[in-house]
Amino acid sequence: MNVLAIKPELSVVIPVYNEEAGLDKLFGRLYPALDKAGITYEIIFVNDGSRDNSVAILAEQYRQRPDVTRVVLFNGNYGQHMAILAGFEQTRGEIIVTLDADLQNPPEEIPKLVEKMREGYDYVGSIRRKRQDTAWRTIASKAMNHLRERITNIHITDQGNMLRAYGRNVIDLVNQCGEVNTFVPALAYKFARKPTEIVVEHEERAAGESKYSLYSLIRLNFDLVTGFSLVPLQVFSLLGMTLSFCSGLLVLILLVRRFLLGAEAEGVFTLFAIAFFFMGVILFGIGLVGEYVGRIFQQVRARPRYVVQTILQGQPRREGHELDEAEGVVLEKRQVGR
Ligand code: UDP
Ligand code: MG
Repeated sequence: MNVLAIKPELSVVIPVYNEEAGLDKLFGRLYPALDKAGITYEIIFVNDGSRDNSVAILAEQYRQRPDVTRVVLFNGNYGQHMAILAGFEQTRGEIIVTLDADLQNPPEEIPKLVEKMREGYDYVGSIRRKRQDTAWRTIASKAMNHLRERITNIHITDQGNMLRAYGRNVIDLVNQCGEVNTFVPALAYKFARKPTEIVVEHEERAAGESKYSLYSLIRLNFDLVTGFSLVPLQVFSLLGMTLSFCSGLLVLILLVRRFLLGAEAEGVFTLFAIAFFFMGVILFGIGLVGEYVGRIFQQVRARPRYVVQTILQGQPRREGHELDEAEGVVLEKRQVGR
């Protein structure tokens, strides 16, 4: 019987971007961990336009384990979160787990997530026991986490961690969203009925280096904040109101002084300082509005969010037909994600 006809219990989605150095190690731990767990599973790798040898390594792994492996190949780099979303569209399991490809999330923790899901939760987040990242990233991420916790109604203790499990109901809703700039754990949280969190281990990157530059981290955090909160815009309206009120008072005071004391030229520099400060505030405010407008622009353009070049997966076997190629068929299918 064709294995692909059976729905697995668990789907694991892994985005891959230039990870050639660590993929073999990942396979070496991921597959045994899942085999041992005694659940039916599928693993969906999404290649996010890697320019190194990752595609060949993924294709080889697909050849080794076509029964449980599927590979989605993007034609370019669309970012980790788009890759995960494309992976979600391919999932068939009742429980969907996401994982990084660099082994920072130990695959041995997956059964723990599954166990928790079986207790009736539809979203199991995870908190890294001891985060193994550079000090500045850990601190910056904590600060962002704190800010996001205050200005959105999304309660995730450790937002940067991708090792998470989602229920089918959550993923079906996520698949209906057409968001261009998004943050998967936050989006999924919005749709979860009964979320919870567990503590997991975290390791250093097995090989290669982080794919996030300072710039892309800032972009990602803007996606998170603008995607899930209007508070930054409201802060500026409130700030604008307070400033107008204060400057009104200042004008009054200056007027009174003008009549009581006559013309004064002192304090010019103080005035400069105040003016420059507010110019900064205004520029930041305009920039912030721009962040939202830019995202609205991308959304209304409604371009495909990503383009899938190929999906490596077995084809359901028809009666009397053998598979066309050894082990499976490459479906030459161009798909666009809407
Ligand atoms: N990744 C991706 N596309 C990108 C950047 C990253 O698919 O544009 C993948 C990467 O291969 C890895 C995961 O996202 O599996 C997390 O990336 P990374 O480990 O570089 O991020 P960090 O752990 O430093 O936050
Ligand atoms: Mg990493």
